[in-house]
Amino acid sequence: MRSANACLLPLASLHGKAVFTADQLGDEQKPHPIQEAMVSCHGSQCGFCTPGFMMSMWSVYLQRDSRGGPASREEIQQALSGNLCRCTGYRPIVDAMQVAEQAPEHPFDRQALSTQLAGIADTGDFHYSAQKQHWHAPRTMDALLRLRHALPNATLVAGSTDIGLWITKQFRPLGDFISVAKVEALHHCERTDEGIFIGAAVSVEQAYRACLKEYPELSELADRFASLPVRNTGTLGGNIANGSPIGDSMPWLIALGARIELASVSGTRQIPLEAFYTGYRQKDLQANEVVGRIIIPLRTSASLFRVWKISKRIDQDISAVCIAFSATLNDGRLQHVRIGAGGVAAIPARARQTEAVLEGSMWDQAALEKACAAIAAEFTPLSDMRASAAYRRQLCVNLLKRFWLETSPASDAKDKALSLTAYAAAGDQQ
Ligand SMILES: Cc1cc2nc3c(=O)[nH]c(=O)nc-3n(C[C@H](O)[C@H](O)[C@H](O)COP(=O)(O)OP(=O)(O)OC[C@H]3O[C@@H](n4cnc5c(N)ncnc54)[C@H](O)[C@@H]3O)c2cc1C
Repeated sequence: MRSANACLLPLASLHGKAVFTADQLGDEQKPHPIQEAMVSCHGSQCGFCTPGFMMSMWSVYLQRDSRGGPASREEIQQALSGNLCRCTGYRPIVDAMQVAEQAPEHPFDRQALSTQLAGIADTGDFHYSAQKQHWHAPRTMDALLRLRHALPNATLVAGSTDIGLWITKQFRPLGDFISVAKVEALHHCERTDEGIFIGAAVSVEQAYRACLKEYPELSELADRFASLPVRNTGTLGGNIANGSPIGDSMPWLIALGARIELASVSGTRQIPLEAFYTGYRQKDLQANEVVGRIIIPLRTSASLFRVWKISKRIDQDISAVCIAFSATLNDGRLQHVRIGAGGVAAIPARARQTEAVLEGSMWDQAALEKACAAIAAEFTPLSDMRASAAYRRQLCVNLLKRFWLETSPASDAKDKALSLTAYAAAGDQQ
Protein backbone atom coordinates (compact mmCIF):
# COMPACT_ATOMS: atom_id res chain seq x y z
CA MET A 1 0.00 0.00 0.00
CA ARG A 2 1.37 3.39 -0.95
CA SER A 3 0.32 6.96 -0.38
CA ALA A 4 -0.43 9.00 -3.51
CA ASN A 5 -1.86 12.43 -4.33
CA ALA A 6 -5.43 11.93 -5.51
CA CYS A 7 -5.37 15.18 -7.48
CA LEU A 8 -2.65 13.84 -9.78
CA LEU A 9 -4.15 10.47 -10.64
CA PRO A 10 -6.37 10.02 -13.68
CA LEU A 11 -9.32 7.73 -12.91
CA ALA A 12 -8.28 5.16 -15.52
CA SER A 13 -4.89 4.74 -13.85
CA LEU A 14 -6.64 3.27 -10.80
CA HIS A 15 -7.93 0.15 -12.56
CA GLY A 16 -7.07 -2.90 -10.46
CA LYS A 17 -6.29 -0.87 -7.36
CA ALA A 18 -8.13 -0.21 -4.11
CA VAL A 19 -8.45 3.43 -3.16
CA PHE A 20 -8.69 4.53 0.46
CA THR A 21 -9.55 8.05 1.47
CA ALA A 22 -9.83 9.83 4.82
CA ASP A 23 -13.53 8.90 4.95
CA GLN A 24 -12.63 5.25 5.46
CA LEU A 25 -10.38 5.66 8.48
CA GLY A 26 -13.04 5.81 11.14
CA ASP A 27 -16.04 7.82 12.28
CA GLU A 28 -17.29 9.61 15.36
CA GLN A 29 -18.51 6.35 16.93
CA LYS A 30 -15.31 4.49 16.23
CA PRO A 31 -12.46 6.83 15.37
CA HIS A 32 -9.16 5.46 14.14
CA PRO A 33 -6.25 5.68 16.64
CA ILE A 34 -4.69 8.28 14.32
CA GLN A 35 -7.79 10.44 14.50
CA GLU A 36 -7.91 10.12 18.30
CA ALA A 37 -4.23 11.00 18.61
CA MET A 38 -4.59 14.03 16.31
CA VAL A 39 -7.29 15.33 18.65
CA SER A 40 -5.47 14.55 21.91
CA CYS A 41 -2.15 15.97 20.66
CA HIS A 42 -3.76 19.11 19.16
CA GLY A 43 -2.48 18.22 15.70
CA SER A 44 -5.32 19.82 13.79
CA GLN A 45 -6.05 23.54 13.76
CA CYS A 46 -7.78 25.04 10.73
CA GLY A 47 -8.30 21.46 9.53
CA PHE A 48 -7.71 22.16 5.86
CA CYS A 49 -4.63 19.95 5.65
CA THR A 50 -5.76 17.36 8.21
CA PRO A 51 -7.29 14.72 5.87
CA GLY A 52 -4.06 14.65 3.86
CA PHE A 53 -1.95 14.31 6.99
CA MET A 54 -4.24 11.50 8.18
CA MET A 55 -3.69 9.53 5.00
CA SER A 56 0.09 9.93 5.13
CA MET A 57 -0.03 8.93 8.80
CA TRP A 58 -2.17 5.93 7.95
CA SER A 59 0.49 4.68 5.54
CA VAL A 60 3.06 4.92 8.36
CA TYR A 61 0.63 3.15 10.72
CA LEU A 62 0.02 0.29 8.26
CA GLN A 63 3.71 -0.34 7.83
CA ARG A 64 4.44 -0.83 11.50
CA ASP A 65 4.49 -4.65 11.16
CA SER A 66 6.79 -4.69 8.15
CA ARG A 67 9.00 -2.08 9.81
CA GLY A 68 9.23 -4.24 12.93
CA GLY A 69 8.59 -1.38 15.36
CA PRO A 70 7.42 2.19 15.67
CA ALA A 71 8.67 4.73 13.14
CA SER A 72 11.31 7.20 14.24
CA ARG A 73 10.48 10.92 14.22
CA GLU A 74 12.67 11.24 11.15
CA GLU A 75 10.78 8.49 9.32
CA ILE A 76 7.50 10.14 10.25
CA GLN A 77 8.73 13.51 8.99
CA GLN A 78 9.73 11.87 5.72
CA ALA A 79 6.29 10.32 5.31
CA LEU A 80 4.68 13.70 6.01
CA SER A 81 6.94 15.67 3.68
CA GLY A 82 4.15 16.07 1.12
CA ASN A 83 1.74 17.60 3.62
CA LEU A 84 2.25 21.26 4.33
CA CYS A 85 0.66 22.81 7.42
CA ARG A 86 0.40 26.56 7.92
CA CYS A 87 -1.19 26.55 11.41
CA THR A 88 0.04 24.24 14.14
CA GLY A 89 3.49 23.41 12.93
CA TYR A 90 4.52 19.84 12.63
CA ARG A 91 5.55 18.85 16.16
CA PRO A 92 2.05 18.00 17.47
CA ILE A 93 1.34 16.04 14.29
CA VAL A 94 4.52 13.99 14.64
CA ASP A 95 3.64 13.53 18.34
CA ALA A 96 0.20 12.28 17.30
CA MET A 97 1.76 9.72 14.98
CA GLN A 98 3.97 8.42 17.76
CA VAL A 99 0.99 8.19 20.13
CA ALA A 100 -1.14 6.42 17.49
CA GLU A 101 1.57 3.84 16.92
CA GLN A 102 1.31 2.78 20.57
CA ALA A 103 -2.42 2.08 20.21
CA PRO A 104 -3.70 -1.47 19.77
CA GLU A 105 -3.98 -2.62 16.14
CA HIS A 106 -7.00 -1.13 14.44
CA PRO A 107 -8.87 -3.87 12.57
CA PHE A 108 -8.15 -3.79 8.85
CA ASP A 109 -8.82 -6.90 6.82
CA ARG A 110 -5.92 -7.08 4.37
CA GLN A 111 -6.84 -10.64 3.42
CA ALA A 112 -10.33 -9.65 2.31
CA LEU A 113 -8.87 -6.75 0.33
CA SER A 114 -6.36 -9.01 -1.43
CA THR A 115 -9.12 -11.46 -2.32
CA GLN A 116 -11.31 -8.68 -3.70
CA LEU A 117 -8.45 -7.27 -5.78
CA ALA A 118 -7.52 -10.72 -7.07
CA GLY A 119 -11.11 -10.99 -8.30
CA ILE A 120 -10.59 -8.04 -10.63
CA ALA A 121 -9.25 -9.36 -13.90
CA ASP A 122 -6.24 -7.09 -14.27
CA THR A 123 -3.84 -9.27 -16.17
CA GLY A 124 -4.34 -8.25 -19.79
CA ASP A 125 -4.21 -4.95 -21.65
CA PHE A 126 -6.66 -2.39 -20.30
CA HIS A 127 -8.62 0.08 -22.40
CA TYR A 128 -11.00 2.72 -21.15
CA SER A 129 -12.96 5.29 -23.13
CA ALA A 130 -15.03 8.26 -22.03
CA GLN A 131 -16.20 11.29 -23.96
CA LYS A 132 -14.29 10.20 -27.08
CA GLN A 133 -11.01 10.07 -25.15
CA HIS A 134 -9.17 6.76 -24.91
CA TRP A 135 -6.81 5.34 -22.31
CA HIS A 136 -4.68 2.36 -23.35
CA ALA A 137 -2.67 0.46 -20.77
CA PRO A 138 -0.81 -2.43 -22.39
CA ARG A 139 0.94 -5.14 -20.37
CA THR A 140 3.82 -6.10 -22.59
CA MET A 141 6.60 -4.12 -24.20
CA ASP A 142 5.57 -5.52 -27.54
CA ALA A 143 1.99 -4.28 -27.16
CA LEU A 144 3.25 -0.88 -25.92
CA LEU A 145 5.55 -0.40 -28.92
CA ARG A 146 2.87 -1.45 -31.42
CA LEU A 147 0.42 0.97 -29.83
CA ARG A 148 3.00 3.76 -29.86
CA HIS A 149 3.67 3.08 -33.53
CA ALA A 150 -0.04 3.16 -34.34
CA LEU A 151 -0.80 6.24 -32.20
CA PRO A 152 2.21 8.58 -32.40
CA ASN A 153 0.11 11.57 -31.30
CA ALA A 154 -1.24 9.96 -28.14
CA THR A 155 0.25 11.21 -24.85
CA LEU A 156 2.52 8.72 -23.12
CA VAL A 157 1.83 8.69 -19.40
CA ALA A 158 3.59 6.96 -16.51
CA GLY A 159 2.85 8.18 -12.97
CA SER A 160 1.16 11.41 -14.18
CA THR A 161 2.80 13.58 -11.53
CA ASP A 162 3.81 16.02 -14.28
CA ILE A 163 0.93 15.30 -16.63
CA GLY A 164 -1.61 15.59 -13.80
CA LEU A 165 -0.71 19.28 -13.56
CA TRP A 166 -1.08 19.81 -17.31
CA ILE A 167 -4.66 18.60 -16.84
CA THR A 168 -5.65 20.27 -13.58
CA LYS A 169 -3.66 23.51 -13.82
CA GLN A 170 -3.16 24.12 -17.51
CA PHE A 171 -6.38 22.52 -18.87
CA ARG A 172 -4.35 21.19 -21.79
CA PRO A 173 -6.23 19.02 -24.27
CA LEU A 174 -4.11 15.86 -24.28
CA GLY A 175 -6.10 13.55 -26.56
CA ASP A 176 -5.65 9.83 -26.09
CA PHE A 177 -3.25 8.32 -23.57
CA ILE A 178 -0.91 5.37 -23.69
CA SER A 179 0.04 4.39 -20.16
CA VAL A 180 3.37 2.64 -19.58
CA ALA A 181 2.49 1.93 -15.95
CA LYS A 182 1.35 -1.68 -16.41
CA VAL A 183 4.17 -2.79 -18.72
CA GLU A 184 5.93 -5.35 -16.57
CA ALA A 185 9.28 -5.13 -18.39
CA LEU A 186 9.47 -1.42 -17.52
CA HIS A 187 9.33 -2.22 -13.80
CA HIS A 188 12.59 -4.18 -13.72
CA CYS A 189 15.31 -2.77 -11.54
CA GLU A 190 18.56 -4.70 -11.25
CA ARG A 191 22.26 -4.33 -10.58
CA THR A 192 24.58 -6.42 -12.72
CA ASP A 193 28.33 -6.27 -13.36
CA GLU A 194 27.54 -3.86 -16.17
CA GLY A 195 25.58 -1.30 -14.23
CA ILE A 196 22.31 -0.49 -12.55
CA PHE A 197 19.43 -1.02 -14.99
CA ILE A 198 16.23 0.81 -14.12
CA GLY A 199 13.04 0.35 -16.13
CA ALA A 200 11.37 3.62 -17.09
CA ALA A 201 8.23 2.82 -15.07
CA VAL A 202 10.10 2.18 -11.80
CA SER A 203 8.93 4.71 -9.23
CA VAL A 204 11.25 7.54 -8.24
CA GLU A 205 11.24 6.19 -4.68
CA GLN A 206 12.28 2.69 -5.72
CA ALA A 207 14.81 3.93 -8.28
CA TYR A 208 16.58 6.21 -5.79
CA ARG A 209 16.60 3.48 -3.12
CA ALA A 210 18.25 1.12 -5.66
CA CYS A 211 20.91 3.72 -6.56
CA LEU A 212 21.56 4.65 -2.94
CA LYS A 213 23.22 1.30 -2.36
CA GLU A 214 25.87 2.21 -4.93
CA TYR A 215 25.86 5.96 -4.39
CA PRO A 216 24.92 6.77 -0.77
CA GLU A 217 25.70 10.43 -1.53
CA LEU A 218 22.25 10.55 -3.16
CA SER A 219 20.59 10.17 0.21
CA GLU A 220 19.64 13.81 0.86
CA LEU A 221 18.33 14.32 -2.67
CA ALA A 222 16.39 11.04 -2.47
CA ASP A 223 14.52 12.43 0.53
CA ARG A 224 14.07 15.90 -0.93
CA PHE A 225 12.77 14.93 -4.37
CA ALA A 226 9.15 16.10 -4.16
CA SER A 227 7.49 14.16 -1.32
CA LEU A 228 6.84 10.51 -0.59
CA PRO A 229 3.38 10.36 -2.26
CA VAL A 230 4.82 11.97 -5.42
CA ARG A 231 7.89 9.70 -5.36
CA ASN A 232 5.63 6.66 -4.92
CA THR A 233 3.77 7.45 -8.15
CA GLY A 234 6.20 9.47 -10.28
CA THR A 235 8.72 7.45 -12.28
CA LEU A 236 12.39 7.90 -13.14
CA GLY A 237 11.49 7.51 -16.84
CA GLY A 238 8.88 10.26 -16.51
CA ASN A 239 11.36 12.61 -14.83
CA ILE A 240 13.83 12.07 -17.69
CA ALA A 241 11.30 12.15 -20.52
CA ASN A 242 9.61 15.26 -19.17
CA GLY A 243 12.89 17.00 -19.93
CA SER A 244 12.47 19.85 -17.48
CA PRO A 245 15.68 21.86 -17.06
CA ILE A 246 14.98 21.88 -13.32
CA GLY A 247 14.26 18.16 -12.92
CA ASP A 248 16.36 16.63 -10.15
CA SER A 249 17.51 13.31 -11.59
CA MET A 250 19.30 14.51 -14.69
CA PRO A 251 22.24 16.37 -13.06
CA TRP A 252 23.47 13.34 -11.13
CA LEU A 253 22.65 10.87 -13.89
CA ILE A 254 24.64 13.00 -16.36
CA ALA A 255 27.51 13.34 -13.87
CA LEU A 256 27.61 9.57 -13.45
CA GLY A 257 27.63 9.00 -17.21
CA ALA A 258 24.19 7.34 -17.38
CA ARG A 259 22.76 6.21 -20.73
CA ILE A 260 19.16 5.77 -21.71
CA GLU A 261 17.70 3.08 -23.90
CA LEU A 262 15.00 4.15 -26.33
CA ALA A 263 12.73 1.48 -27.75
CA SER A 264 10.46 1.29 -30.80
CA VAL A 265 9.03 -1.41 -33.05
CA SER A 266 12.28 -1.19 -35.04
CA GLY A 267 14.49 -2.07 -32.04
CA THR A 268 16.41 -0.25 -29.34
CA ARG A 269 19.18 2.34 -29.26
CA GLN A 270 21.22 3.72 -26.39
CA ILE A 271 22.45 7.28 -26.03
CA PRO A 272 24.19 9.22 -23.26
CA LEU A 273 21.54 11.01 -21.24
CA GLU A 274 22.90 14.47 -22.04
CA ALA A 275 22.48 13.76 -25.77
CA PHE A 276 18.76 13.21 -25.23
CA TYR A 277 18.13 16.92 -24.65
CA THR A 278 18.34 18.99 -27.80
CA GLY A 279 16.63 22.25 -26.75
CA TYR A 280 14.11 23.59 -24.26
CA ARG A 281 11.73 20.60 -23.77
CA GLN A 282 13.09 19.18 -27.07
CA LYS A 283 14.33 15.61 -27.07
CA ASP A 284 15.98 13.13 -29.35
CA LEU A 285 12.88 10.90 -29.18
CA GLN A 286 11.17 9.71 -32.35
CA ALA A 287 7.37 9.77 -32.52
CA ASN A 288 7.23 5.98 -32.24
CA GLU A 289 9.80 5.64 -29.44
CA VAL A 290 9.51 5.33 -25.69
CA VAL A 291 12.12 5.59 -22.95
CA GLY A 292 12.75 1.95 -22.05
CA ARG A 293 15.39 1.95 -19.35
CA ILE A 294 18.15 3.92 -17.71
CA ILE A 295 21.61 2.43 -17.32
CA ILE A 296 23.82 3.83 -14.57
CA PRO A 297 27.51 2.90 -14.40
CA LEU A 298 28.76 1.21 -11.25
CA ARG A 299 31.00 3.03 -8.87
CA THR A 300 34.71 2.77 -9.53
CA SER A 301 37.37 2.79 -6.84
CA ALA A 302 38.57 6.23 -5.75
CA SER A 303 35.45 7.81 -7.17
CA LEU A 304 34.27 11.15 -5.82
CA PHE A 305 30.61 12.00 -6.15
CA ARG A 306 28.37 14.69 -4.72
CA VAL A 307 24.96 16.12 -5.62
CA TRP A 308 23.23 19.14 -4.11
CA LYS A 309 19.76 20.53 -4.52
CA ILE A 310 19.18 24.16 -3.60
CA SER A 311 15.58 25.27 -3.25
CA LYS A 312 13.69 27.81 -1.19
CA ARG A 313 12.07 25.16 1.00
CA ILE A 314 13.55 21.84 2.15
CA ASP A 315 10.49 19.68 1.50
CA GLN A 316 8.48 19.41 -1.70
CA ASP A 317 10.09 22.21 -3.62
CA ILE A 318 11.53 22.53 -7.10
CA SER A 319 15.26 23.22 -7.40
CA ALA A 320 16.64 26.66 -8.11
CA VAL A 321 19.84 24.79 -8.94
CA CYS A 322 20.70 21.13 -8.70
CA ILE A 323 24.30 20.22 -9.44
CA ALA A 324 26.32 17.02 -9.35
CA PHE A 325 30.06 16.43 -9.51
CA SER A 326 31.75 13.16 -10.30
CA ALA A 327 35.43 12.31 -10.77
CA THR A 328 38.08 9.81 -9.80
CA LEU A 329 41.14 10.75 -7.85
CA ASN A 330 44.39 9.13 -8.98
CA ASP A 331 47.59 10.07 -7.10
CA GLY A 332 45.94 13.38 -6.19
CA ARG A 333 44.91 14.09 -9.81
CA LEU A 334 41.35 14.34 -11.05
CA GLN A 335 40.23 12.12 -13.89
CA HIS A 336 36.93 11.39 -15.63
CA VAL A 337 35.50 14.67 -14.36
CA ARG A 338 31.82 15.10 -15.15
CA ILE A 339 29.53 17.87 -13.91
CA GLY A 340 25.76 17.81 -14.49
CA ALA A 341 23.60 20.81 -13.67
CA GLY A 342 19.93 21.75 -13.64
CA GLY A 343 18.41 25.22 -13.36
CA VAL A 344 21.25 26.89 -15.24
CA ALA A 345 20.27 26.47 -18.90
CA ALA A 346 17.32 25.55 -21.11
CA ILE A 347 18.20 21.88 -20.75
CA PRO A 348 19.82 19.68 -18.12
CA ALA A 349 23.43 20.53 -18.94
CA ARG A 350 27.02 19.37 -18.65
CA ALA A 351 29.63 21.89 -17.51
CA ARG A 352 32.11 20.82 -20.18
CA GLN A 353 34.45 23.82 -19.92
CA THR A 354 34.83 23.40 -16.18
CA GLU A 355 35.31 19.67 -16.62
CA ALA A 356 38.15 20.40 -19.10
CA VAL A 357 39.83 22.77 -16.63
CA LEU A 358 39.77 20.12 -13.90
CA GLU A 359 40.60 17.03 -15.96
CA GLY A 360 44.12 15.85 -15.11
CA SER A 361 44.74 18.63 -12.55
CA MET A 362 45.99 18.09 -9.04
CA TRP A 363 42.88 18.57 -6.82
CA ASP A 364 44.38 21.55 -5.05
CA GLN A 365 43.51 25.18 -4.32
CA ALA A 366 44.96 26.41 -7.63
CA ALA A 367 42.78 24.01 -9.65
CA LEU A 368 39.75 25.01 -7.59
CA GLU A 369 40.29 28.70 -8.34
CA LYS A 370 40.59 28.09 -12.09
CA ALA A 371 37.54 25.85 -12.05
CA CYS A 372 35.50 28.43 -10.11
CA ALA A 373 36.28 31.03 -12.77
CA ALA A 374 35.28 28.54 -15.47
CA ILE A 375 31.99 27.51 -13.88
CA ALA A 376 31.04 31.15 -13.22
CA ALA A 377 31.24 31.75 -16.98
CA GLU A 378 29.93 28.35 -18.11
CA PHE A 379 26.18 29.00 -18.10
CA THR A 380 23.77 31.85 -18.82
CA PRO A 381 20.93 31.08 -16.41
CA LEU A 382 17.60 32.88 -16.29
CA SER A 383 16.18 35.00 -13.49
CA ASP A 384 12.76 33.80 -12.40
CA MET A 385 10.60 33.38 -9.30
CA ARG A 386 12.94 30.70 -7.94
CA ALA A 387 16.25 32.57 -8.20
CA SER A 388 18.09 35.33 -10.02
CA ALA A 389 20.64 34.52 -12.70
CA ALA A 390 23.41 35.93 -10.51
CA TYR A 391 22.38 33.76 -7.56
CA ARG A 392 22.30 30.64 -9.74
CA ARG A 393 25.78 31.41 -11.09
CA GLN A 394 27.07 32.00 -7.56
CA LEU A 395 25.53 28.71 -6.42
CA CYS A 396 27.51 26.84 -9.08
CA VAL A 397 30.71 28.43 -7.80
CA ASN A 398 29.89 27.85 -4.14
CA LEU A 399 28.87 24.24 -4.64
CA LEU A 400 32.05 23.55 -6.59
CA LYS A 401 33.95 24.96 -3.59
CA ARG A 402 31.97 22.69 -1.34
CA PHE A 403 32.87 19.72 -3.54
CA TRP A 404 36.52 20.70 -3.09
CA LEU A 405 36.10 21.17 0.67
CA GLU A 406 34.53 17.74 1.06
CA THR A 407 36.76 15.76 -1.31
CA SER A 408 40.15 17.40 -1.85
CA PRO A 409 43.10 15.87 0.04
CA ALA A 410 44.21 19.49 0.60
CA SER A 411 41.00 20.44 2.40
CA ASP A 412 40.73 20.59 6.19
CA ALA A 413 37.05 19.74 5.97
CA LYS A 414 37.55 16.57 3.90
CA ASP A 415 35.24 13.73 4.94
CA LYS A 416 33.30 16.00 7.27
CA ALA A 417 29.60 16.33 6.57
CA LEU A 418 28.91 19.91 5.61
CA SER A 419 25.22 19.38 5.01
CA LEU A 420 22.47 21.48 6.47
CA THR A 421 20.95 18.45 8.17
CA ALA A 422 24.32 17.53 9.69
CA TYR A 423 24.62 21.06 11.07
CA ALA A 424 21.07 20.82 12.46
CA ALA A 425 21.86 17.49 14.12
CA ALA A 426 25.08 18.91 15.60
CA GLY A 427 23.09 21.89 16.89
CA ASP A 428 20.61 19.55 18.60
CA GLN A 429 23.43 17.89 20.50
CA GLN A 430 24.81 21.14 21.89
C1 LIG B 1 4.08 18.31 -5.89
C2 LIG B 1 5.14 17.93 -6.89
C3 LIG B 1 6.47 18.01 -6.54
C4 LIG B 1 7.46 17.68 -7.47
N1 LIG B 1 8.75 17.77 -7.07
C5 LIG B 1 9.73 17.42 -7.93
C6 LIG B 1 11.10 17.50 -7.51
O1 LIG B 1 11.42 17.81 -6.37
N2 LIG B 1 12.04 17.18 -8.44
C7 LIG B 1 11.73 16.81 -9.71
O2 LIG B 1 12.63 16.53 -10.50
N3 LIG B 1 10.44 16.71 -10.11
C8 LIG B 1 9.45 17.00 -9.26
N4 LIG B 1 8.14 16.92 -9.66
C9 LIG B 1 7.84 16.52 -11.04
C10 LIG B 1 7.49 15.01 -11.25
O3 LIG B 1 7.09 14.40 -10.05
C11 LIG B 1 8.67 14.22 -11.83
O4 LIG B 1 9.12 14.81 -13.02
C12 LIG B 1 8.30 12.75 -12.06
O5 LIG B 1 9.47 11.98 -12.11
C13 LIG B 1 7.51 12.54 -13.36
O6 LIG B 1 7.26 11.16 -13.51
P1 LIG B 1 5.82 10.63 -13.93
O7 LIG B 1 5.93 9.15 -14.04
O8 LIG B 1 4.79 11.14 -13.03
O9 LIG B 1 5.68 11.30 -15.38
P2 LIG B 1 4.35 11.66 -16.19
O10 LIG B 1 3.71 12.85 -15.59
O11 LIG B 1 3.52 10.45 -16.38
O12 LIG B 1 5.03 12.04 -17.59
C14 LIG B 1 5.94 13.11 -17.69
C15 LIG B 1 6.45 13.21 -19.14
O13 LIG B 1 7.22 12.06 -19.47
C16 LIG B 1 6.66 11.38 -20.62
N5 LIG B 1 6.88 9.96 -20.38
C17 LIG B 1 6.59 9.26 -19.25
N6 LIG B 1 7.07 8.01 -19.36
C18 LIG B 1 7.65 7.90 -20.58
C19 LIG B 1 8.33 6.87 -21.28
N7 LIG B 1 8.55 5.67 -20.75
N8 LIG B 1 8.83 7.13 -22.53
C20 LIG B 1 8.67 8.36 -23.09
N9 LIG B 1 8.02 9.38 -22.49
C21 LIG B 1 7.53 9.15 -21.25
C22 LIG B 1 5.22 11.83 -20.67
O14 LIG B 1 4.70 11.75 -21.98
C23 LIG B 1 5.35 13.28 -20.18
O15 LIG B 1 5.82 14.07 -21.25
C24 LIG B 1 7.12 17.24 -8.77
C25 LIG B 1 5.77 17.14 -9.12
C26 LIG B 1 4.78 17.49 -8.20
C27 LIG B 1 3.34 17.37 -8.58
